[in-house]
Amino acid sequence: MMNRLPRPPASKLLEGNLRFQKWFREDRETFARLLAKQQPRAFYIGCSDSRVVPNFILDAAPGEVFVARNVGAIVPPPCDPLGMSIGAALEFAIESLGVPELIVCGHDSCGALAGIAEGQVSLKSNLGFWLKRGLDSVRDLGELGSIPMRDLVERFVAAQHRNLLQFEVVERAIAEGRIVVHAWVYDPATGRIRAMAADGVFHEVIGEDGPAPDLAAE
Ligand SMILES: [Zn+2]
Repeated sequence: MMNRLPRPPASKLLEGNLRFQKWFREDRETFARLLAKQQPRAFYIGCSDSRVVPNFILDAAPGEVFVARNVGAIVPPPCDPLGMSIGAALEFAIESLGVPELIVCGHDSCGALAGIAEGQVSLKSNLGFWLKRGLDSVRDLGELGSIPMRDLVERFVAAQHRNLLQFEVVERAIAEGRIVVHAWVYDPATGRIRAMAADGVFHEVIGEDGPAPDLAAE
């Protein structure tokens, strides 16, 4: 008799889970350790962009990075109800997990930021409403369309960083020397990260092997 029980929809990605299970079987000690406790080294807030995968670009294993991603890597200020998701994650990451580092990471070629720069914000869609929060954070920069995108993304990330510092839980952790807060920009054309220094200037992180190739220049 034919089995008529409903089956979940098929997905190519479930084949990926089968491959992951192979890894899980082979490295059971690691996963047993993680099952008992998570102790991530950082809380990373980034963009949902499928090309900017935190654990890949940071070469971090499961258990190493606590992550929140949204469209544009936007951090609404603490007084904003739309910031509650980030605020909740901040409280959990800092107070319960004790992460010593907090990262907000935007990226070049960000569709959300392009939309913000082009004024594609409206209160008629969830996306437009959300992007308006991003726009609000950089209103002081004036005409966004006249700022080169590379500069704009850095100033945008710096604005999210400023918002992060306003959360009481972050303020307290900094005052007690429990946390360092980073502002980074990842470039999908080079694989490199630019990190903000105390003076607000971004510096590219390049190792002894020299920079990764610039695909946009080839
Ligand atoms: Zn993006």
